[in-house]
Amino acid sequence: PPDVERLGRHTWTFLHTTASYFPPSPSPHQKQSMLGLLRALPTLYPCGVCATHLGGYMQANPPERAVDQGREALEKWLCGVHNEVNERLGKDRFDCDNVPQRWRDGWKD
Ligand code: FAD
Repeated sequence: PPDVERLGRHTWTFLHTTASYFPPSPSPHQKQSMLGLLRALPTLYPCGVCATHLGGYMQANPPERAVDQGREALEKWLCGVHNEVNERLGKDRFDCDNVPQRWRDGWKD
């Protein structure tokens, strides 16, 4: 089975970076592609418990409106997804105001 921590770190990198480079005003095709990517995760993510939790979260908090509104709303939505996981694992919540700096503009770490 995959290393769930390593898989998670790399997946978050991909997802947050992709959200932070999603257009502020996405085209219909870009919106559909993003929804396809997100909706596939509860089916395909290769950590069973993670995928099940994610599916439940996405039922309660669907991504459609955030995707429709574009980059900033999507960044916030995904930050909320990640914070729910952080909380469940006993990790600190992340301040969602810092998402653009962390995942697009860069900071020193
Ligand atoms: P990570 O949580 O991997 O975070 C990486 C970096 O992202 C952090 O250093 C920080 O800079 C930044 N970050 C942190 N929080 C946020 C946020 N809210 N918004 C934006 N950026 C942020 N593991 C399990 O054991 N059980 C699970 O059920 C589980 N579900 C998961 C579901 C998904 C969809 C994913 C992608 C991963 C899941 N994981 C799960 C893995 C887990 O979330 C972590 O990736 C793993 O524990 C490694 O944690 P980490 O402390 O290295 O930092």
